[in-house]
Amino acid sequence: MKVSKRTGTEKAYAAGKFLLSFLYPDRCPLCDSLLMPGELICPCCERDVKPARGAVCLKCGKPLSDERREYCADCANKKHYFTQGKAVFLYEGKIRSSLYRFKYKNRREYGGYYAGEAAAQFDGWIRKIGVQVIVPVPMYRSKQRLRGYNQAEVFAKALGRSTGIPVDKKLLFRVRNTTPQKDLNEHERKYNLKNAFQLRADIVKYNKILLADDIYTTGSTMDEASKTLLEAGATKIYFICIGIGAGYR
Ligand SMILES: [Zn+2]
Ligand SMILES: [Zn+2]
Repeated sequence: MKVSKRTGTEKAYAAGKFLLSFLYPDRCPLCDSLLMPGELICPCCERDVKPARGAVCLKCGKPLSDERREYCADCANKKHYFTQGKAVFLYEGKIRSSLYRFKYKNRREYGGYYAGEAAAQFDGWIRKIGVQVIVPVPMYRSKQRLRGYNQAEVFAKALGRSTGIPVDKKLLFRVRNTTPQKDLNEHERKYNLKNAFQLRADIVKYNKILLADDIYTTGSTMDEASKTLLEAGATKIYFICIGIGAGYR
């Protein structure tokens, strides 16, 4: 039997969280119903959510409709700046509405669930690629002030706690307030993000970086952030996102 060893701090944290959960019950990250103390997701959603199976694109992690292929249509036609990326969930159904609340309705507590799932699926991969740091995709400052938080940062921090890898939320910042990518066509998306990111220092002190974001669609954001980091001296950029569009093409 596997016995997990907890440090004194972890025990105290878990005990505190358990007591707090009576006062402020957590909500199920998938359907937002109230949870019983100690539950991470409600029993109903636990039956619903199955780990992503089947073949995924070797580059971006998007599920493939044709299992004989190695890359999705997007990655087969386009050169990406990042080396490889992984996605925890398919961006559909309950995950889609869950991510909406995580992003716009202040459900920051969902971050712990997403990060736990990310670590369960990809801890081996994260160790193998040997990243030194997790960097959240930044949000434009005034936008973040208005929302009160950056959901990518909430996820990155939770992932840092789950994996023990340090998080650097200050390395990258967004120079311009860009139009949301979902409101633009492919051509506009490419130019919308051009030089959208900058570094706080001239030189990147890490070789291998894991970017963290909530949703991956065409990869323009990841590419632009990766490009900025590579130009400043990083050698390889990987990414992890919570939800990814299916893109069955
Ligand atoms: Zn639920
Ligand atoms: Zn791909």
